[in-house]
Amino acid sequence: MSIDEIAPPPRLLMGPGPISVDPRVLRAMAAPLVGQFDPFMTTTMNETMALYREVFATGNEQTFLVDGTARAGIEAALVSLVEPGDRVLVPVFGRFGHLLAEIAGRCGAEVHTIEVPWGRVFAPEQVAAAIEEVRPKVLACVQGDTSTTMCQPLAEIGALCREHDVLLYCDATASLGGNEFRADSWRLDIATAGLQKCLGGPSGSAPITLSPRAVEIVNGRRHVEAGIREASDEARGRVIGSNYLDLAMLMDYWGPRRLNHHTEATSMLYAARECARLLAAEGIDAAVERHALHGRAMLEGVQGLGLGVFGDLAHKMNNVVAVEIPEALGAAGGDAVRGRMLDDFGIEIGTSFGPLHGKVWRIGTMGFNARKDAVLTTLAALEQVLRSSGVAVPAGGGVEAALAVYR
Ligand SMILES: *Cc1c(COP(=O)(O)O)cnc(C)c1O
Repeated sequence: MSIDEIAPPPRLLMGPGPISVDPRVLRAMAAPLVGQFDPFMTTTMNETMALYREVFATGNEQTFLVDGTARAGIEAALVSLVEPGDRVLVPVFGRFGHLLAEIAGRCGAEVHTIEVPWGRVFAPEQVAAAIEEVRPKVLACVQGDTSTTMCQPLAEIGALCREHDVLLYCDATASLGGNEFRADSWRLDIATAGLQKCLGGPSGSAPITLSPRAVEIVNGRRHVEAGIREASDEARGRVIGSNYLDLAMLMDYWGPRRLNHHTEATSMLYAARECARLLAAEGIDAAVERHALHGRAMLEGVQGLGLGVFGDLAHKMNNVVAVEIPEALGAAGGDAVRGRMLDDFGIEIGTSFGPLHGKVWRIGTMGFNARKDAVLTTLAALEQVLRSSGVAVPAGGGVEAALAVYR
């Protein structure tokens, strides 16, 4: 059997993630490997920790990578914080809130959820009322939910959690690097992310940061670990229910003790380091501004094509927009347009889930693709595909409106 060398087609990935990886990150991934305890390796791990402190805007010593996609970071945070029977409160404003609730349930938590309609975010008073009623140990909240494009403000929620002695976990996968994020001043206890959104990398590494308070809770669970099989049910219940995702063990691996755990995924470490290095070199605030600019150009561009946009625009993430599929296209028309965008132009835009399925496309402007040429090319292609699909769109209306933002 003869199979050719891998040769993916050229694509411009303008969906809600993954996005086209920055070529500098791809280059970093091709760098030679070294042994796990080579001084170069440990130095690289320390540099990566320092870089992600800057990305998360934190002084947290415990800032490192969980090997796996963003979901591995979410699971590591929840399985390490939550003991069976703990109450966990999840404000759900999209698909990923349901994921947090599901994972907390698997950790044995008594899960309570509150919901707002898709396309909205929570007011602090709604969260305050739920905290007072539920008295949770942990509040788990998404910052930016790509399923709805909404970005939940977290500063007030952080203050509320601290006031009520609740641990606050945040999934910032979709938002980090492209929207304001401040782990310390918002008083987050654990935050996790992934590389494949605004950080401009491939999926497969989950940056994480833990406050000293979270470190204490997580490390407090480990003393019953020795002799686990002989332990009482209650003592066993205190043990973190995963070895791979045990944050106490991961902290000992990344920390000065360097206790052997897994084999660090070296090429992903290089990728994660390069993603953060590029962001830090640009300046985190400048990167957020860049996402705001190109996100606004894309938003005004699709509106310039006469298309509607879903959700509360005051709380839209900078890096993704949900574009209403014109009714003129009919039931299968949304997918046909995505197919033509891909086949004719090599551009990928996103479909959507749940209540929005068949109603909106999701178009991202993030990471390496938060760029003027990527925005204009996507708008020009979309105009062409829509027109040839029988939708009346203003000639040049998308590109023109986006250019007006740049001018
Ligand atoms: C994209 C996204 C994820 C992705 O998780 P993976 O395991 O990397 O697929 C998680 N959370 C949110 C909020 C996301 O937008």
